[in-house]
Amino acid sequence: MKLTILGCYSATPRTFTNPTSQILEIRNHLFLIDCGEGTQVQLRKNKIKFSRIKYIFISHLHGDHFFGLPGLISTFRLLGRETEMHVYGPKGIKEAITLFLKLGDSWTNYPLIFHELDSKESELIFEDEKVSVHTIPLDHRVYTNGFLFKEKPHPRKLDVDSVAEHEIDRSQYGNIKNGADGVLENGTIISNKDLTIDPPYPKSYAFCSDTAYNEAILPLIENVDTLYHESTFLETNVDLCKKTKHATAKQAAQIALKANVGNLILGHYSTRYKSIDLFKEEALEVFPSVELADDGKSFEI
Ligand SMILES: [Zn+2]
Repeated sequence: MKLTILGCYSATPRTFTNPTSQILEIRNHLFLIDCGEGTQVQLRKNKIKFSRIKYIFISHLHGDHFFGLPGLISTFRLLGRETEMHVYGPKGIKEAITLFLKLGDSWTNYPLIFHELDSKESELIFEDEKVSVHTIPLDHRVYTNGFLFKEKPHPRKLDVDSVAEHEIDRSQYGNIKNGADGVLENGTIISNKDLTIDPPYPKSYAFCSDTAYNEAILPLIENVDTLYHESTFLETNVDLCKKTKHATAKQAAQIALKANVGNLILGHYSTRYKSIDLFKEEALEVFPSVELADDGKSFEI
């Protein structure tokens, strides 16, 4: 699993910073998470193929998470896209995008499918044989979801030397990868454990932006490998969190600690601060494994 940060600053785009947008590469999918202004340019700069994006997840309809979407949808049309595009986002997103397309008489020539969300409970919104995506209801000024991306268990790996040594027939390989024992011609059973090796364990990533400090999300994100949690402010401005429904770096770290996550990535920084290093310093006082998101930066999960 690889996470590429296209943008991770709050509010307005600036000369060297972009609003929220991320690409999660997971088992041959490229999921786009949020789509702030400038996402197209950032996709180009990071050499990400537009055609590989088939699923877009929008957390909420504040501009710094969503204003890049009409442009991106329009560009897909100009690029001659024919394959389906699925957009998951709050109720109202279909009306907003449709209005843009209608006013410009620029309907897409590819199927554009909206999955509108309005549940306040976590729900499974995407699933195939390799990956699942659940919503994480967040506490923000408007209806907002984070997203939990989970790999499904990989099939077991064939121990090539062992199957050769036991002279196992090739016709059994598929079943053995799925957990079956091997059977020799004389009927002897060879245990699956002796013919396979453990696959990599399935990874998980939770995206939580924007939100106030909210312990209700803890059961949903417990033990995830990587948590991206917004940290718009530092504790010196904690008073602003109540009004704006955002979190501080310390609060993000408290959530990471209580949920026992592997790593915490901070982002959605207010641009009022001179250096984002201050966010890391503050979070490290609470939680030991903290990374700073930054535009163009990638993380292996
Ligand atoms: Zn917001």
